[in-house]
Amino acid sequence: MIDVLKKFDMDELLNCMHCGFCLPACPTFQQTGLETYSPRGRIALMKGVAESKLPIDEEFEHNMYACLGCRACETACPAGVKYGELIETAREVVEDTKKAAGRQSFGRRIVLKRLFMHPRRMKLTGRALWALQASGLQELASKTGLVQILPREMTEMQVAVDRVASPADRKKRTRVVKAEQRAPVARKVGLFTGCIMDVMFYETNQATARLLSKAGCDVVFVDQQQCCGALHAHSGEKADAKVLAKQNIEAFEALDLDVIVNNAGGCGAALKEYHHWLKDDPVWADRARNFVAKVRDISELLTTLPLQVTKTLNARVTYQDSCHLAHGQGVRKQPRDLIRSIPGVEYIEMENADGCCGSAGIYNITNFDMSMRVLDDKMNHVADAKASIVVTANPGCLLQMKKGIIRAGLEGRMEAVHIVDLLDRLV
Ligand code: SF4
Ligand code: SF4
Repeated sequence: MIDVLKKFDMDELLNCMHCGFCLPACPTFQQTGLETYSPRGRIALMKGVAESKLPIDEEFEHNMYACLGCRACETACPAGVKYGELIETAREVVEDTKKAAGRQSFGRRIVLKRLFMHPRRMKLTGRALWALQASGLQELASKTGLVQILPREMTEMQVAVDRVASPADRKKRTRVVKAEQRAPVARKVGLFTGCIMDVMFYETNQATARLLSKAGCDVVFVDQQQCCGALHAHSGEKADAKVLAKQNIEAFEALDLDVIVNNAGGCGAALKEYHHWLKDDPVWADRARNFVAKVRDISELLTTLPLQVTKTLNARVTYQDSCHLAHGQGVRKQPRDLIRSIPGVEYIEMENADGCCGSAGIYNITNFDMSMRVLDDKMNHVADAKASIVVTANPGCLLQMKKGIIRAGLEGRMEAVHIVDLLDRLV
């Protein structure tokens, strides 16, 4: 027990001065008005646990996992409390305690350890999904209502999933996509494809490579890369997250790349934190710092390259920030600049654009009801913008927006699209 509690950074917990500036920014506090559903309340609970004044029980676990991990509170906090690190530690403490008591669920172990730690199994999952769609079984299951045997959370999410790429399409991927033109500064870019991203949004990864090639980069699909580890870190499995980080560092550093690019705000935030995850590891700390120095979100990189958007798009467009891109990485301006650079676009900023959409990794499955409450509020702002396109920069947000459009009855009037796919249509 003592070892578990040592994981908390007491200095960071004591940095919170209980001012409450973070409360209005917190979606779960907005929904409930409960102190235990606020950043300040959760920090107080963590402090109670770290000082052994409160037990690590189911109530503590519930309050820690009710947090979306959106990090809007970090942006709002005048004291600079690193809430993202605190919540990861709190969940690690919960999971370590459950493991020690033999209480960790079998399903969770299967998904996190047996699936996300193994890229080959993720690829097989993608193939199985494609087979399900291609055989018409998925459609049949939807039409006959058979799909209702799935848990409601999964039934509702599957309506937002697009067609996954076929094995034949996947075979066409070449390991290197050469630059179409030589930019003033040609760059060799490694593409971080992500695990779910490459299963569900394979075409967006292909489009990312095309855009970078047109902007003068040689793009490499790096073999041996793994899941970024965000899901593990956010689920209290920090040891597994560190294993994945080391495997990724090794895979990318072997290629002497100028830049490591990704198109998923959640993955990018994790990749940029590897030097924090590995700071106490004498073998990996420097390697992690070198890796992080090269990591860029696709919008960050594209705004520095001579990409020509040639086609006109006569549409009113708004942008939904990815929490981990905006609050985690501080990337807000670049995606907006890219959208504004499209000829014909009328850009409209929606209210609370950087408020969480409720997707938050697997939160929309594990905390479905709260996720939908947050989403429905978000869709009011989306609808008020009266745009025909809502642009996102993270696969989870994209799925959530697609689902939100259906829930809000906006189908046919607007579409949700990843920023890469939008630009790919227009260059
Ligand atoms: S991370 Fe998001 S949901 Fe969690 S406490 Fe902070 S603002 Fe609230
Ligand atoms: S804004 Fe920062 S210092 Fe103030 S209560 Fe929230 S976390 Fe604590």
